[in-house]
Amino acid sequence: MIKELSNTAHSEKSSAIDFFKMNHEKILFCQDEQSGLKAIIAVHNTVCGPALGGTRMWNYVSSENALIDVMRLSRGMTYKNAISGLNLGGGKAVIIGDSKTQKSPELFMKFGEFVNSLSGSYITAEDVGINPQDMLHVNKTTDYVTGLPGKKGDPSPITAYGVYMGMKAALKFQSGNESLSGKKVLVQGVGHVGLYLVDYLHKEGAEIIVSDINKDAVKNTVNKYNCKFIDTNDIFNSQIDIYAPCALGATINNKTIKELKCNIVAGAANNQLQDENIHGQQLIDKGIVYAPDYLINAGGVMNCYAEIHGISDEKVMQMAGNIYNTTLDILHKSKNENISTSLAANKIAEKRIKEETIKLNNVK
Ligand code: NAD
Repeated sequence: MIKELSNTAHSEKSSAIDFFKMNHEKILFCQDEQSGLKAIIAVHNTVCGPALGGTRMWNYVSSENALIDVMRLSRGMTYKNAISGLNLGGGKAVIIGDSKTQKSPELFMKFGEFVNSLSGSYITAEDVGINPQDMLHVNKTTDYVTGLPGKKGDPSPITAYGVYMGMKAALKFQSGNESLSGKKVLVQGVGHVGLYLVDYLHKEGAEIIVSDINKDAVKNTVNKYNCKFIDTNDIFNSQIDIYAPCALGATINNKTIKELKCNIVAGAANNQLQDENIHGQQLIDKGIVYAPDYLINAGGVMNCYAEIHGISDEKVMQMAGNIYNTTLDILHKSKNENISTSLAANKIAEKRIKEETIKLNNVK
């Protein structure tokens, strides 16, 4: 269960945390004075295959917060890759710094050297604050990188497609009708994935409201799609049909859950529930259908997997489209077993990890 640690891209108390409880295989601290690199790579689990997960660049308030974030994110990747049936384990990296002012080719090349030192047990890609051009610099010092321009490229469009399909499945489950036409959808964060999601929603005639701390991102989206926007402080006061978190994690927490006025939560952000057990159940109690984050945002990692294994674009779209069926299965499992949707998803992922562990042990 991902419950011990809070997402602390924000500042939070994290004293008395037992870091070993999350069962990571390996954590690598990466530091280079010349390029200014400060990064952490977390390899959570490689039972299903090499650990794959993106690199996030964020101005963390402390290195402890960065550590907690990368540990939570990498564990989430283990579950995501397992439930998606990919032969990949879970890993993630964070680079501590401002992605607007502190990027340089040298920094990414140095980071690539650290990735390379793990000999393929960790494969990287884009995440928040990182774009395909940055990955090209990483690729100068390691081959263990995906999401490259000229190959499958930016995973965000496929991620958005999977989220869109997961959202439709949640709507079908909740109301019997999967059409988003006329539904009021609030997209929090219109970055790489959020913007592509808005495009899908627009095409289907949803009533879109966007919110982002980046004023330019809001302006561009509003101009392009003629949609509404709200201040980031008003997100949880708004009466909406669907809340789509597409920024950072832990936005469903003790404070926000009391205010949330929607029927469905379905978005791209990783680790949306601050505490899986508590907040997963509270959403059920409020009658809100939660499409588990790592289940519906798996399109991006499917795209990375396709890049590694030479799988066609058509096939990877099919894989992402199948998120619709998997989401429906998980939502029904949650209802039938009277457990939260996140717990239902975890059970499936843990079953696969257990099976792969037994297979591995038999080979040994
Ligand atoms: P991004 O950096 O391109 O976009 C994130 C956006 O969120 C930015 O515009 C940022 O300004 C905004 N934001 C940050 N804090 C905010 C807040 N408090 N309120 C409103 N807006 C805020 O990142 P992305 O690649 O679009 O990823 C978004 C989320 O989806 C992340 O949680 C990421 O881990 C997850 N995700 C991304 C992918 C992918 O393919 N890129 C795949 C799976 C999951």
